[in-house]
Amino acid sequence: MIVVGGGEVALRKIRLVAEAGAQITALAVEFCGELQAMASASDRLVLLSASYSRGHLATFEHAVLVIAATNDRDINRVVSADAQSLNILSNVVDDPDYSTVIFPSIVDRSPIQIAISSGGDAPVLVRLLRTQFEALVPAGLGKLAALAGRFRVRVKSKFLSGSDRKAFWEEVFYGPIAEQAYANNLGRAEVLLAQKLAATDGFSTGEVYLIGGGPGDPDLLTFKALRLMQQADIVLYDRLISPEVLNLVRRDATRIYVGKTAGDHPVTQDNINQKLVEYAQKGNRVVRLKGGDPFIFGRGGEEIETLAENGVSFQVVPGITAASGCASYAGIPLTHRDHAQSVHFIAGHLRSGKIDLNWRELVQANQTLVFYMGLNGMETICAKLLKYGLSPDTPAALIEKGTTDQQRVFIGDLTDLPALVRSADAKAPTLIIIGTVITLQRKLAWFNLE
Ligand code: SAH
Repeated sequence: MIVVGGGEVALRKIRLVAEAGAQITALAVEFCGELQAMASASDRLVLLSASYSRGHLATFEHAVLVIAATNDRDINRVVSADAQSLNILSNVVDDPDYSTVIFPSIVDRSPIQIAISSGGDAPVLVRLLRTQFEALVPAGLGKLAALAGRFRVRVKSKFLSGSDRKAFWEEVFYGPIAEQAYANNLGRAEVLLAQKLAATDGFSTGEVYLIGGGPGDPDLLTFKALRLMQQADIVLYDRLISPEVLNLVRRDATRIYVGKTAGDHPVTQDNINQKLVEYAQKGNRVVRLKGGDPFIFGRGGEEIETLAENGVSFQVVPGITAASGCASYAGIPLTHRDHAQSVHFIAGHLRSGKIDLNWRELVQANQTLVFYMGLNGMETICAKLLKYGLSPDTPAALIEKGTTDQQRVFIGDLTDLPALVRSADAKAPTLIIIGTVITLQRKLAWFNLE
């Protein structure tokens, strides 16, 4: 194919068609540096220094498509007229009336391609749509499609009726086999698909998804969390899961509350671990939804250990942990060049009236401390830090129900924060942050402002 033009616009088009594997000849008086570099790195792009004149196009053999991408509208139109008289397809940049071909925006999950076009009317709108599709379509979709391609003939010969084949593929594309392909476990996806094909009656594999539900704001869920929540047959959720997040679970899913309130354990951890195994072994897609991130003070490790011991397949989806959610929504950067080069995440709960920690390490300079589960022990935490040498005016903050519309932020120092928080009657969940990064909050607060 031929491209007339050698500047930025030509470059963009050339990149696009080069990705599709085209053999390109570009013609221009001058070429930008990138095009020169591209041409010397690839034998599929040839640059010809010449100015375009009427009839020029006829001198190229085997041209099937020409792109007119100069900054001179008249030249572009001459190229278009030449193309028409030679029956060659043409695309004139920003001039759809003179084009016989337009380039759609592409979401590329080869072998699956989604093309979006407005026929030249609204390219910006098309770009916005493309961004939405990019977010919606799993990155690993191409791998799943390629896997399906390898099984197509076998599936066709097993299921003679079209509707049986359709039902088979729908189960494959919407469930554990697809999820294994998205997780880049292609070998396992292939084994599961082969098993499903070999089974005589409905074969369904159960799987457990251990999902971080984030600190509260449903907008902080990951795409993957949402996708798996919408496939769930059963959901086991914690007290920390906000109603807004729970609302996003598939409507027909069975919801089981396994929450714990401090000191009161309605469902024991062993019991939860066991339930996950049982439900999955019965062929269910089980979502274990936890607040924040499952691997940060979430006992996520224990739950999947039991799954692994019982041969149940599982995936772990990270979530925004309370520390990063609360810090961001309160306007407190956890690290900062001038204040803190490290950050500690600490479990601050009282055990029989005591908190057992390495306090000497926690009072070092230039670090930020984040206490989870610290509301009951707040007085002890502040007193210990003072005793081991932190200055009384060290800034301290408590964030109540961070990232939700009930978020409250209390700012004080190691001596006055506890009283401030008690008099405002703050309720769990709360997070305590200690360190001079808190001084930045005055400038950086942005959420839930009065
Ligand atoms: N896995 C979770 C933490 C579970 S421990 C995570 O990664 O966030 C529970 C503690 O998390 C609570 O005691 C509280 O300290 C903190 N927490 C969770 N959500 C919170 C929120 N929205 N606001 C403040 N603290 C929160």
